[in-house]
Amino acid sequence: MEAVIYEERTEQIHRKGDKPFALSCDKESLAGAVSQRACVFCGSRVVLYPIADALHLVHGPIGCAVYTWDIRGALSSGPELHRLSFSTDIQERDVIFGGEQKLYQALIELIDRHQPKAAFVYSTCIVGIIGDDLEAVCKKVSAEKGIPVLPVQSEGFKGNKRAGYAAACEAMNKLVGMGDTKGISKHSINILGDFNLAGEIWLVREYFEKIGVQVVANITGDGRVGDIQRAHGAALNLVQCSGATMDLANMMKKRFGTPNLRVSYFGVEDMAEALYAVADFFKDEEIMARTRQLVADEVKGLQAELNEYRRELTGKKAAIYVGGAFKAFSLIKAFRLLGMDVVMVGSQTGTNEDYEELAEICDPGTIIVDDSNPLELSSFLKEKDVDIFVGGVKERPIAYKLGVAFCDHNHERKEILAGFAGMRNFAREVHASVMSPVWRFVPRKSPGNSASAVSSA
Ligand code: SF4
Repeated sequence: MEAVIYEERTEQIHRKGDKPFALSCDKESLAGAVSQRACVFCGSRVVLYPIADALHLVHGPIGCAVYTWDIRGALSSGPELHRLSFSTDIQERDVIFGGEQKLYQALIELIDRHQPKAAFVYSTCIVGIIGDDLEAVCKKVSAEKGIPVLPVQSEGFKGNKRAGYAAACEAMNKLVGMGDTKGISKHSINILGDFNLAGEIWLVREYFEKIGVQVVANITGDGRVGDIQRAHGAALNLVQCSGATMDLANMMKKRFGTPNLRVSYFGVEDMAEALYAVADFFKDEEIMARTRQLVADEVKGLQAELNEYRRELTGKKAAIYVGGAFKAFSLIKAFRLLGMDVVMVGSQTGTNEDYEELAEICDPGTIIVDDSNPLELSSFLKEKDVDIFVGGVKERPIAYKLGVAFCDHNHERKEILAGFAGMRNFAREVHASVMSPVWRFVPRKSPGNSASAVSSA
């Protein structure tokens, strides 16, 4: 069947093999196309939210705060202040006379009540329009209360979700450099871009600790203000989900000379590569030997089970639509390990370089799409007759309405998908979902019923 694509969006879709690679990306979403993307404010909120001992105050109408309340399943091993959603609840009166006084009072009250280590104050659309001086209010409260109070300039309309990541990194950059770096090993790293969904950062930290590398700061899963303040003492920044925290890594490189490596912890290959890349960086024989041992032990336990799944999954088709394109690379490799073909791959915030790399590793005929919408995604899933769709909370209903298996690889999941243990979970979930007998009762392959999901999406 012919895919449903708006004329203005054709440059953001590429089918590998049709013509030389070219894809337009990192631009405003098409008005009326119901983008799967969130706003700038939401972009900054998802990055900063897991910092568990900070106060997160949304300066705006109540809807912005509700929309992002407890937005990730980011677990904390200690305080859980991040899970409370605070808002100044801007009303008509504040829009007319300004909301600075309300913001000041809210900050004073909340800091007194919760004693946070720092406060992040998020700007929303309406605050950008009425022009409240967030910076001045934050500065005043910071001086009075003696903690960092950081404005996050994340007005929802000022760009796409990537601009929110940048605003979050700007705010964190003000924290870095404030702490004491005593006691930090020369073999040390910061973990950037892991948000501790289902406890993943604990697993990844454990791997690094086993090979003899100290983790200074989690940025931001299970994050702590004090750790971020001393993050400049680490020898290396490991950056996952490069869209979200690469800006901070670049700022730290400029300010402190901290080098960075882009890694991924999803899939056997990428997890092993991340560990070897760190061992290689430190040029320490003992670290390298421990890394070899750890990878060998983990893979040995996993291989037989993966082979079992592979027997039944070979030739099945998968589609991927994720926030950052970097995760898509790992998912393609993970599906290949299971014998499956990826026939569609897309992201909300990929860059030109991301998509070029994706085009290189994809098979001919694969659809590559930037900033897609439900109508397009539905028609791609049907056109390619996929067996499983991997995405986040907004993609789940698209799959289920079409009678396609779905794997949540985003905010809401409760199971670890990172690391070697995560690959086992991922393979089990994909196998159970794709091979479930329930699909026998879903008429997705019946031509007479194929249009219903798009019209109701
Ligand atoms: S910041 Fe703007 S676009 Fe984002 S949730 Fe609030 S009102 Fe909506």
